[in-house]
Amino acid sequence: MVETEALFSAVLDATADAVMVTDKAGTIRRINPAFQKLTGFDPATLVGRDARELFSEINDAEFCDGLWDDGAPRHYPSVRSKHADGRAQVHALSMTSINDVAGQPSQFVAVILSESFQTDAETGESRRIGHDALTGLPDRSILADRVGQNILNAKRANKSIALLVMGLDRFTLVNDALGYAAGDQMLKEVADRLAKVIRVSDTAARLDGDKFAVMTPISAIDDSVIVAEKVLNAIKKPFMLKGEEVFITFSIGISIYPTDGEDFDDLLKDSLSAMQYAKQDGGSQYRFFASDMNAKAKNRLALEKRMRNALVNEEFVLYYQPKVEPKTDRVKGAEALIRWIDPVHCFINPGEFIPVAEETGLIVDIGTWVMRKACFQIKAWQDAGYGPIKISVNVSSMQFKAKDLLDVVKSALNDSGLEAKWLELEITESMLMNDVEGAIARMQAVRDLGCDLSIDDFGTGYSSLSYLGRFPITTLKIDRAFIKDVQENPNTAEIARAIIGLSRGLNLEVVAEGAELKEHIDFLKENGCDSIQGFFYSKPLTVKDFEAKLTKINV
Ligand code: C2E
Ligand code: MG
Ligand code: MG
Repeated sequence: MVETEALFSAVLDATADAVMVTDKAGTIRRINPAFQKLTGFDPATLVGRDARELFSEINDAEFCDGLWDDGAPRHYPSVRSKHADGRAQVHALSMTSINDVAGQPSQFVAVILSESFQTDAETGESRRIGHDALTGLPDRSILADRVGQNILNAKRANKSIALLVMGLDRFTLVNDALGYAAGDQMLKEVADRLAKVIRVSDTAARLDGDKFAVMTPISAIDDSVIVAEKVLNAIKKPFMLKGEEVFITFSIGISIYPTDGEDFDDLLKDSLSAMQYAKQDGGSQYRFFASDMNAKAKNRLALEKRMRNALVNEEFVLYYQPKVEPKTDRVKGAEALIRWIDPVHCFINPGEFIPVAEETGLIVDIGTWVMRKACFQIKAWQDAGYGPIKISVNVSSMQFKAKDLLDVVKSALNDSGLEAKWLELEITESMLMNDVEGAIARMQAVRDLGCDLSIDDFGTGYSSLSYLGRFPITTLKIDRAFIKDVQENPNTAEIARAIIGLSRGLNLEVVAEGAELKEHIDFLKENGCDSIQGFFYSKPLTVKDFEAKLTKINV
């Protein structure tokens, strides 16, 4: 026993890692010379003190308390600790416990990893060289080194490695909505979660901004799928930021050595473009690198560039698709639908460019343009003596969550002189489910302005019916999937009927989308649908053609 004790002491004194031993309450019992060197405190001043003092104030309180709780081994890639001279230093910390015979933690061992430190000239904080200051994860240079090492090993053993590059989807929304401090906190938490899901043979790194990477030696492609899924799942759990539950997802691009590239630079390039592909496809998923992707990526870049110019060059126009009351055949309103008339590539439908605009953030400017254009147009029709019509405008997810949504709507109304009741905003269910309470507050704020609010493509999202009654909406738009075969599919017809009934019960207006056939109209009329929008009545029209419909129908 004595021998073990002596051996333990000798090991502790010899190790280059900084080690601190505390009792279960967190009172410091012992530090080794490396710990003394790292923190500048000698054992006489530290032993007997509460170890939390070394970490308190410069880390959040929850973290400090969590250090000494259940004794489960923990690794924190980025922790601040106080140096005797008053400065803070950032490093990785591992906590483990020594358990008594009953399996309860009796002592805790805190190990600060021995790697070179450097002092940041600006902040005075010292940090491990090759590690990202915010998260404590290895940076790109260390990752490159480890990938290089693993490629050498894999070459010898005829094995493969996978490089996963992951970017947070729409991370700028977190920064915009909650501020940079919360954004930083999220990045740190993401790093901690990554560090927890990987194996010892893997390396997790932060590349830059919201981009992280994991390198993992694999025996089969499926191994990389398992890692990707673990990462996706770890990120899906909500983050608590400023007392709010925030959800975020990753897009992951995966490249494989040796099939996709021979060195780190090639693999990184491939993973990044695979990641972009995952993002374009809606995010929250992984994609492997495939050779035809380079061409696709190039096209997308070109599209993005053209789209920026399109706003400046006024290449966008709004078309209006009538919403008709089936009983009277009267045009009650219309939906404004954007079109892009590119001088070279001609007519481009929103389905092609709206998703790219969302991803690049350009949707905010485009959305503002649409809102203003529509308001001025409705006012112009009113001033020209056309009958009262309500126009709906599609609002994208990013726009709906943007801080200035209300300001954009307000100024479009003010500047055009349009009364709010003639404007309706269309949102989709998927925008509402991540943060229901926040969404309800935003919806209410839109209603308080006096605008109507509809749920578009209803029935295709995941919204739980229990929420529907709480959403301050005025209208449901039945997705065309539930209209297109009502005449021959009794199940679809039953769903369409149920949605109409539901709207009635909730006192909402109901609009059917995509009615193309006489049979659709008859069905909807019979079942009491308020308005119908579809090719049967009209395709989306230019301002001039729409005016013709208005005068014709409203005579
Ligand atoms: P949405 O809001 O559900 O718009 C209805 C879409 O259905 C329109 O496609 C319309 O042309 C089409 N449609 C209408 N009646 C029929 C029909 O009888 N049969 C068929 N097959 N289709 C019909 P469009 O104009 O291509 O727009 C597609 C989507 O793009 C819209 O779906 C909307 O989500 C988005 N979008 C359009 N304009 C804007 C905009 O200004 N801002 C935003 N954020 N999104 C927009
Ligand atoms: Mg719509
Ligand atoms: Mg729709």
